[in-house]
Amino acid sequence: MRKKSDLPAKPCATCGRPMVWRRKWARVWDEVRHCSDRCRARRGPAAPAPPPPDAPQRPR
Ligand SMILES: [Zn+2]
Repeated sequence: MRKKSDLPAKPCATCGRPMVWRRKWARVWDEVRHCSDRCRARRGPAAPAPPPPDAPQRPR
């Protein structure tokens, strides 16, 4: 039996707070290290590259 809240989580590399998986991170979960843009900015340019804007999974 799986609970609805059974989502992956990991600590933010900057503030150390636990980040719970979010839908918008589905593709970049392995690259996400910061809980927010603010933490990422604090960390400097070492942030992971954002996903390409032309994602092929969007039929339009
Ligand atoms: Zn953070």
